[in-house]
Amino acid sequence: GFKMGIVGLPNVGKSTLFNALTKTAAAQAANFPFCTIEPNTGEVNVPDARLDKLAAIASSKEIIPARMTFVDIAGLVKGASKGEGLGNQFLANIRETDAIAHVLRCFDDGDVTHVDGRVNPVEDAEVIETELMLADLESIEKRRAGLVRKLKGNDKDALQQDRLLAAAQEALENGQPARTVEVDEEDKKAWKLLQLLTTKKILYVCNVDESDAATGNDYSKAVEEMAAAQGAASVVISAKIEEEISQLDDEDMEMFLEELGLTEAGLDRLIRAGYELLHLETYFTVGPKEARAWTIREGTMAPQAAGVIHGDFERGFIRAETIAYDDYVELGGEGPAKEAGKMRAEGKGYMVKDGDVLHFLFNA
Ligand code: GDP
Repeated sequence: GFKMGIVGLPNVGKSTLFNALTKTAAAQAANFPFCTIEPNTGEVNVPDARLDKLAAIASSKEIIPARMTFVDIAGLVKGASKGEGLGNQFLANIRETDAIAHVLRCFDDGDVTHVDGRVNPVEDAEVIETELMLADLESIEKRRAGLVRKLKGNDKDALQQDRLLAAAQEALENGQPARTVEVDEEDKKAWKLLQLLTTKKILYVCNVDESDAATGNDYSKAVEEMAAAQGAASVVISAKIEEEISQLDDEDMEMFLEELGLTEAGLDRLIRAGYELLHLETYFTVGPKEARAWTIREGTMAPQAAGVIHGDFERGFIRAETIAYDDYVELGGEGPAKEAGKMRAEGKGYMVKDGDVLHFLFNA
């Protein structure tokens, strides 16, 4: 599954947000009781109205949404790369995530202490980014030192790694995150394997007060500008609202949101923004037993998409019977879609599209 790490300075609202995410998940999950995989790790449902629609058409007994994992990575403070606060363990946790949700304090509250004594989300973002850059620099230096012997032997992989590490190092020494380095197509795989912290995509989460949830505020606007300049994503959320609505059932939640001028829970927007940021897509398997959503990366071919369900589906892949979401819904289900000639048999070379309803045929 895909994993987002929640980072941010102390007292910005990370735990509040994480608790809201996991409580909502616990309330929603009839089929998947919310399970704490490890402390501070939680799985949440990915909201998708299309799945409910498909399930209604097929009269599916069960609805199983796609899942996304969130990890609350506390302890990142100024000096973390030098082992201050909870230090390096946390940097290791970030390394394992697919993207970073960076929570920024965008609310004034005299009762909640800010670690630096002032509210300035853009500077806070820089503090964390600097720690991540320092951590990358340190790991690059270590790794390059470790490559010296192999380089003398002209080892091809080592030469490639060292060249990429050097490019990252140069950017970092100029105060730029490693994601600013332009990487050639043939280097992309090796680049990813370096797992540098500052190559992770960032979703800035502007945590605002209840009263600013619908509109954002000057703090969140400054963050949006910064995010746009970096090619990062941003969402405005009130962690406190999310915590309150995580206790409510769907109907009460809608009323509560409406009173606040909101059309949708912030968590839904957060998860969707994560999907966009990671270029994730959804395909569906639909039948009378269950309707289920599966997550793939944009550009995934049919056999690899099948592999998300089970390795055997990928290894023994024969073909995918495919109905586009719109056809399925407009024609009123699999039978009518098939009759109308809208069920296609697609082979190994088919790139799965967002919303596809699929049946896989495979050799067991
Ligand atoms: P963490 O250290 O980043 O995990 O921060 P917490 O989630 O523990 O929040 C720190 C404090 O800020 C708690 O007392 C929260 O209730 C409070 N807090 C969180 N979000 C908001 C908000 O949007 N507005 C206000 N006024 N307080 C908030």
